[in-house]
Amino acid sequence: MSWPEPRPSILSIEAYTPGESKLEGANRIVKLSSNEGAFGPPPAAMQAFAAAAAQLHRYPDGDSTALREAIGARFGLDPARIVCGAGSDELLLHLIMAYGGEGTELVMSAHGFVMYDIAGRYAGCRVIKVPERNLTADVDALLAAVGPRTKLLCLANPNNPTGSLLPRAEVERLRAGLREDILLILDGAYAEYVTAEDYDAGAALVDAGSNTVMTRTFSKIFGLAGMRVGWAYMPARIADIIHRVRSPFNVNIAAQAAAVAALAEPGWVERSVAHNTEWRARLSARLEAAGVKVWPSHGNFILADFGTAARAGRADAALRARGIIVRGMTAYDLPHCLRITIGTAEECGMVADAIAAFMADAV
Ligand SMILES: *Cc1c(COP(=O)(O)O)cnc(C)c1O
Repeated sequence: MSWPEPRPSILSIEAYTPGESKLEGANRIVKLSSNEGAFGPPPAAMQAFAAAAAQLHRYPDGDSTALREAIGARFGLDPARIVCGAGSDELLLHLIMAYGGEGTELVMSAHGFVMYDIAGRYAGCRVIKVPERNLTADVDALLAAVGPRTKLLCLANPNNPTGSLLPRAEVERLRAGLREDILLILDGAYAEYVTAEDYDAGAALVDAGSNTVMTRTFSKIFGLAGMRVGWAYMPARIADIIHRVRSPFNVNIAAQAAAVAALAEPGWVERSVAHNTEWRARLSARLEAAGVKVWPSHGNFILADFGTAARAGRADAALRARGIIVRGMTAYDLPHCLRITIGTAEECGMVADAIAAFMADAV
């Protein structure tokens, strides 16, 4: 017998494990495993989605024109250099496939977002994971890892799952230390949640050169993970490359309409940031009081550190017994941690109560 064989590098990929959403026997599930926004979809986005039903026989606008214009207006960016995708994952994949390849290297930090590793291997790159300091990307170590074959450096800022942030000056230092032919991908999936003042999601570096791309998403603060919409801001030359390889109708008609409406929802981002900032602090304080270390986070999630993998596993089981799903971190080489999304006030209270009870029993 013989069979078709994929390129060998593909067999080194472990399929992405999404946050779980079901528990056997639980009648109410509290899903805090995928960093989805705490408030559900914006009401205007639900209306736009429903209205799109009458147009489902039509192909969508392949250039996502109205959406790019709305994004450009909202964030003060040139719509011609915005490319939309079916989630930012799609754009990350195309960027890495287009600029990586056999014989090249992709550099990322040790606990960086797992999609860079998956897409890098798919492209045939050697993926280099660089040790962090205090669960924060280390610019000096990243630069030291760069070699003559390096083509890509991917950085989520803030990073998922650690929540850590590099200030603007550090990201600028990273870019300045990279050769001009290395593409720097700054993944701003959580940018809207950041309240730190010395932060830039990447647009300034995109504008300043020819070799930096910023990716963003509607899946987190805008509450549209199920619609699959992301976007990236990039130099015109790189946009031209991505338009050659992306699927011509990559963002469906309902997703484009819902995303435009989400941007127009009055006060949505402000309300979400205020809730997130307040409840991230409250939940962190309750876990710390219960004896669990919490890593400082700039995103809509926290990384709870139980010290050992065994204890994190028992905590996870105790949460599941109460219908609460959080994210195990073995795939990120942090098996002693659990990542917990900031949900509603009630959900934050439930997860805090459950962990406090677990810690009280666990001694
Ligand atoms: C959630 C997330 C994304 C993207 O998601 P899409 O739903 O594909 O837009 C990208 N990067 C990071 C770091 C994320 O956490």
